[in-house]
Amino acid sequence: MRIDLHTHSTASDGTDSPAGLVAAARAAGLDVVALTDHDTTVGWAAAIDALPAGLTLVGGLELSCRWNPPDGGRSTELHLLGYLVDPAHPELAVTLDALRASRLGRAERMTDRMTADGVPITWAQVARLSEGASAGRPHIARALVEAGVVGSVDEAFATLLNSRSPYHEPKEDLDALDGVRLVTAAGGVPVFAHPLARSRGRVVGDDAVTAMAAAGLAGLEIDHPDHVEADREHLRGLAADLGLLATGSSDYHGTNKRVRVGGGGLTAPEAYEALVARSSGSRPVT
Ligand code: AMP
Ligand code: FE
Ligand code: FE
Ligand code: ZN
Repeated sequence: MRIDLHTHSTASDGTDSPAGLVAAARAAGLDVVALTDHDTTVGWAAAIDALPAGLTLVGGLELSCRWNPPDGGRSTELHLLGYLVDPAHPELAVTLDALRASRLGRAERMTDRMTADGVPITWAQVARLSEGASAGRPHIARALVEAGVVGSVDEAFATLLNSRSPYHEPKEDLDALDGVRLVTAAGGVPVFAHPLARSRGRVVGDDAVTAMAAAGLAGLEIDHPDHVEADREHLRGLAADLGLLATGSSDYHGTNKRVRVGGGGLTAPEAYEALVARSSGSRPVT
């Protein structure tokens, strides 16, 4: 069984439609794919409608969270995957609406600051590129590529959209422990996405993982393209110590990133079965 538990569609910052994504997943020889768009479950329905024979879809999402250390120290952004939630769970639905609204305001402010400085992109253009999606930096990046300001999405992230850029603004994220509790309350299974993806910025220590585990975290995404081998080994030890599942994925974003669907890491069938067994919000669809 080939199982990829983390992908993005045009419902967030991927470039494949949900229908295109499930087709690409099957073409890549996957048996199971999870659709985990940022702060939304809106892509699930179209993915289910277009599901090819032989492919199982796991409905999921990737929540933007923040680890706030109990000692009041600096907070760190992190991502939390939530699998098989009930998308109609009232508190989850309200929270996702708020997160997406906040993303939209932040993308508009970042874009407007660039426009004001003479960078030749406009909010109208970014709004068109992010229509129907959870707006994020990748949409601004595509506008910058369209305008010829940079040659690639990667270059946009390395320059104008970098977290140290004057145009950057942090997102308003959910507290990580609240995120774990929210996914669980919605019948879902919370898994810490790419916990040690150092290339994206600061990462949390084992204390954060331990606190999240105590709040109900079910697993760690270990075999992820942004993890070096030493970090994978560390995370395997941590997962064993804390009784957490180990998952793997591509974190496919279409042409916004180089990794192909099913081409990053994969999840072992036993971990997948255990994950499904812990869910009560929705079922995988075949
Ligand atoms: P945001 O959530 O708006 O701060 O943007 C971060 C998102 O951009 C994450 O979901 C990443 O998947 C994506 N991302 C980060 N770095 C890159 C990159 N170099 N190229 C394309 N996408 C990226
Ligand atoms: Fe993304
Ligand atoms: Fe992520
Ligand atoms: Zn992701």
